[in-house]
Amino acid sequence: MTELAYLADMASAYVRSFRARVVALPPGGLVLDRTYFYPAGGGQPADHGTLRQGDTTVPVVDVTKSGPAVLHRTRALPGQRSSFPLGAEVEGLVDWDRRHQHMRLHTGQHLLSARTFERTGLRTRKAVLRGMEATIDLEGEVRTPALELIQLDLVEIVRRPRSVRIRHVPRAEWDALPVAGRSGLVPLPPHVDPVRVIEVDGEDSCPCGGTHVRSTAEIGEVRWTVPTVASGGGSRVGFTLARPGATTPPE
Ligand SMILES: [Zn+2]
Repeated sequence: MTELAYLADMASAYVRSFRARVVALPPGGLVLDRTYFYPAGGGQPADHGTLRQGDTTVPVVDVTKSGPAVLHRTRALPGQRSSFPLGAEVEGLVDWDRRHQHMRLHTGQHLLSARTFERTGLRTRKAVLRGMEATIDLEGEVRTPALELIQLDLVEIVRRPRSVRIRHVPRAEWDALPVAGRSGLVPLPPHVDPVRVIEVDGEDSCPCGGTHVRSTAEIGEVRWTVPTVASGGGSRVGFTLARPGATTPPE
């Protein structure tokens, strides 16, 4: 069982180094008692980084969920080992440029889905973050005039920043809310309780287990990708970050 320490609140997504204990050594990697490494899921790629103890540094090249555990897949640097003994206390260091890029993309993607729903009534079937790019697959076709308005909305939300927060809502309370206003089509698994809701001030409320920026200003400038037809029909629309890596949070 691994505590998913990055989930707790907005500040947790900004933790770049942490201490944890090795609790299992399955083939190809190790399991920690707690982690700030994001395991791939929900369209967001895994974090990378390193684990360190004394003079030994072990790169983390992939992170996946395996039931209640998080598997950190590691490899060996030349002349070094690729893991640590059971019970070892290690320091985890998250590759911050990669992580923050995913946070920028993820919050931007929620806003793209929300504005698209608001402008067209089209809901998001699937969202994918990859490299510098976020895309969403819609349940229908979005036409150019509407898409241009959606894109202008997004630029405005970055230019006049909104704050982002996390609320943990009891499942019964969430289920009692009207479903008509939701931009996403992916159903919540029945065991999820409480529901972790990402709220962009005045713009969007969406259940999500991903990592997000505190302010929409951190998304920065984006470039629009040319819409295509998604597999299964409907439009695939998206954007890329104009600048890679981490942006400076506003004061
Ligand atoms: Zn999300």
